[in-house]
Order: sequence, then C-alpha cells, then structure tokens
Amino acid sequence: MSLGRLYVVATPIGNLEDISPRALRVLREADLIAAEDTRHSARLLEHFGIQARLVSYHDHNEADRAAMLIAALRSGESVALITDAGTPCIADPGYRAVRAAHDAGIPVVAVPGPSAALAALSVSGLPTDSFSFHGFFPRKRKQAEALLDAMRAGGTHLFFESPNRLVATLEALEKAVGEASCCVARELTKVFEEVVPGSPACLVEHFSAAPVRGECVVVVYAPPTREVPAPDPDLLRELVRAAMRRDGLSRRDAIRRVAAEFRVPRNAVYAAARDEDA
Ligand code: SAM
Repeated sequence: MSLGRLYVVATPIGNLEDISPRALRVLREADLIAAEDTRHSARLLEHFGIQARLVSYHDHNEADRAAMLIAALRSGESVALITDAGTPCIADPGYRAVRAAHDAGIPVVAVPGPSAALAALSVSGLPTDSFSFHGFFPRKRKQAEALLDAMRAGGTHLFFESPNRLVATLEALEKAVGEASCCVARELTKVFEEVVPGSPACLVEHFSAAPVRGECVVVVYAPPTREVPAPDPDLLRELVRAAMRRDGLSRRDAIRRVAAEFRVPRNAVYAAARDEDA
C-alpha cells in the first residue's frame, strides 16, 4: 500500500479571496483535514462548499494527534493540515506532525499562501534581505529585555503583538531602540487594514489616540551597531582618511577618534593607517 501525503495548507488571514485554487483542490481532495479549531475551519470549508472529515489538531493534543495522523497517512490517506488563519507551523501548531511524517518517511507537501508575518514584512518598507521572526512579543520581563537587546544590536525584527499590549510594547521599543524605524501592520487584508510606518515615538502617539483593535504585526529595523567586530584594515584606513579630510584632524587624532567611535583597539587603527604609508 502506498503512503499518503501530508499537505501543509495556508489559508487566508482575513480576505477569503486570498485562498489559492491549489489550496481549495487539496482541501477538497484530502481524506482528512486536521484543523486547529474545527468549528472555525468548518465555516471556511462551508464557504467554499467543501465537505471534509475534520479532526482537531491544536497545541494541547499535538503529540497524540500526530500519532493518529501518521497512522492515517501510513494507511494511504492524504491529510491536509490547516490552522485558523495563515500558514500552519508559523507560530501555530503543526511542526510535530510534520516532523513525525518526516520520521515515518511520509512525503510532506507545502501548499503556500498567506502568512501574517511575511505579509507585514512585505509592506513595511524596511530592509528584508535578512530578518528575525520572534513569534509573539514575550510577556515575561527578562525575555522581553533579551529581545529588546537583540534589536539594539541591529537588523530587521518581526513579532506579533496583541492590540491591548501594543502601546506598552511600542513604549518599551522607544526606550530601548528609539532610533529604530518601525511599521505596525494591523488587520491586514481586512476591512480596517492599516499599515503605519514610523519611529517608535510616532507609533506610540498614533496608537494611543484610540483603543487598538484587531490583529497586529510589528516590524522593527535598527541600524547595525557601529562596532567593528573584526576590523577590516581597508575600512579603518578609509575612516581615518575621512576624519582627517572632513574634520581637519591630524593623523594621530583621527586614529584616536576612529578607535573610540568604532570601539576598535587603537593599535589596529594605527596598523591600518601605517599600511598606507608603506
Ligand atoms: N500562522 C499564522 C500566519 O502564518 O499568519 C500566524 C498565527 S499567530 C497565532 C496569529 C497572530 O498573527 C495574530 O495574533 C496577529 O498578531 C497576527 N495576524 C494574524 N492575522 C493578521 C492580520 N490579518 N493582520 C495582522 N496581523 C495578523
């Protein structure tokens, strides 16, 4: 008997037009649909006229349900995994079933589509070549501080936040990385969609004006710290030259300035500047 396939199917994060034709076909053809909240997903399936055998698959029954799904897949059934909205496994249940399928040699197939985090990133106007996604902003103080420290080190960071905690979290951001560029994406693809770019201070002002409603993603970009971890002699030489040219400093003072400003050992800057004389 051939093995079934486990399909990981993305569903809309608000606008039902965002479901893909392929997702609809896979859901229609699946022998079993594992859904985070069966009542919620039943409404979605009903909207598209899909009749399905639904089983629940959520944070509290993941381990047991994964075993049950693997048994079904082993017997040749195809299973589609969905969550309430967006892409399963992304800050949502699912990865245990996927891993169990890999372990059992069962093919796992992505049916990609909406995902709140990537949708927010795509409209943020912030650098996207590399980013860190943190799930929900931590509620525990120590973890929140660790995340704010990570943001202070620079780069693009993405997290989910509940509407009633948004302003407090933006205030914490303002204190930790006031110079950051941010974007709050709220209610994406829905009627009251709002994409608000700005500094943490501007966003605090904007979202303090009225109670915040709906679902939110926060994107933060902080410029990389100006520390030079492994000093590149060419860069150091260029910095010294620029300081001499721009501020009329002597070479000695320019070297001191660059060492202090970029937290580089002074002898490394001396060595780089000396290379130029050689
Ligand atoms: N796996 C999902 C995905 O790929 O989109 C994310 C699940 S996570 C449990 C749910 C969080 O995503 C919400 O609390 C909210 O922060 C964010 N979110 C979901 N839909 C959204 C929307 N339409 N606009 C903005 N944020 C949204």
